[in-house]
Amino acid sequence: METILVLAHTENDGSLAKSAREAQRAAGTLFKSLPGSKLVIGLVGDNVQIAANSIAACPATKYFGVTGAEFSQSRYATDAAAAEAVCKAAQATIVIAPATSRMARVLPGVAQRLGGRADTHVTGVAVADGKISVNRWFYKQRMEGALTRTQRPWILGIDPGSQTPCDCGAGTASVEMVAVNLSDAAKRTTVVGIREPKADAQTIKPDAQLLFVTGAGWTKKQADGQTHVPEAEKLILGFLKASRASLGSSKSLVDLGGEGQAVLPFLSHMNQVGQTGATPRHAKGLSTCCHGEEPHTVGWRFIGERRAVNLDPNCGWARGKADVLYVADAFKVMAKVNELLAAGKS
Ligand SMILES: Cc1cc2nc3c(=O)[nH]c(=O)nc-3n(C[C@H](O)[C@H](O)[C@H](O)COP(=O)(O)OP(=O)(O)OC[C@H]3O[C@@H](n4cnc5c(N)ncnc54)[C@H](O)[C@@H]3O)c2cc1C
Repeated sequence: METILVLAHTENDGSLAKSAREAQRAAGTLFKSLPGSKLVIGLVGDNVQIAANSIAACPATKYFGVTGAEFSQSRYATDAAAAEAVCKAAQATIVIAPATSRMARVLPGVAQRLGGRADTHVTGVAVADGKISVNRWFYKQRMEGALTRTQRPWILGIDPGSQTPCDCGAGTASVEMVAVNLSDAAKRTTVVGIREPKADAQTIKPDAQLLFVTGAGWTKKQADGQTHVPEAEKLILGFLKASRASLGSSKSLVDLGGEGQAVLPFLSHMNQVGQTGATPRHAKGLSTCCHGEEPHTVGWRFIGERRAVNLDPNCGWARGKADVLYVADAFKVMAKVNELLAAGKS
């Protein structure tokens, strides 16, 4: 009989992130498919009551909490100690956690301490013939694998964006506190602040409906023999502002910046989509001035609907990589799109 533990940390305001609700959905799927199994929740944070209450209507039979100022910040030593203590208190055999950067870095270490196993980047869970099977992608999302394990506890990090968040309602949860004795050494590392771009300069938005991708073509000489980088910048930023899309880029375009060429200053390697970049998850994607070569398009694996604008009818997108290819000048297309968006708003 499996005891399935949802293990998550709270946010700064004490709430639960969407990624935690996604992990809970995966845990709920297993719980419903495994007769006789138990579902329990483990939360780590300064105070976990708000988070526990927010999901109190879920079928979990017990809530465990590790709380206190020491557990409010992301720190390997305290997070690993808290996770280990909760897993032991719950006697968990299956541990399902959101693969946030905070959780992902402690899960393998916690598995080691408990004599269990951890699998990362899990995108699906299922039960077949009474056996739990999990899915994940390999080789930059080119191959999908399904695996089972007999080793327990089995710790699974669920990739954010891969599940529908659970919608179980609120109530009042009774949380059993788990004590964790921390040595001074465990508290040595301190988060002194967070540096992040200003809200309007943050171009990477994992929850956006649309991914807008720019390629090196935006900086290339155009039909008049000239480059038009300032105009490209205006069109791209104008579109992002009006559509609230997330911004991606091809490797060639972000590399140009590193080589000291005139490029779009708001792009960094963090925006890069592809084999050596990110594999974002958005309902739709629009690629502009990007050729659609294999190492780039492999990053589009989880984009629902793909469209591209390219002058070249023989570009990579035309070879089955995009659902719709517009053979057109992206400068003209995006100017018109921005005009229509502005008209729609007014
Ligand atoms: C091991 C390896 C890993 C790699 N990993 C990645 C990766 O993670 N991500 C990635 O992106 N690449 C990756 N690459 C590089 C990849 O193969 C391509 O070189 C790169 O994606 C090309 O970028 P691009 O399409 O922006 O530029 P280009 O190939 O220069 O294409 C520019 C395109 O813009 C079009 N264009 C120009 N002007 C206009 C206009 N006005 N309107 C419309 N279209 C226009 C042109 O027709 C052209 O197709 C990798 C390569 C290798 C070898």
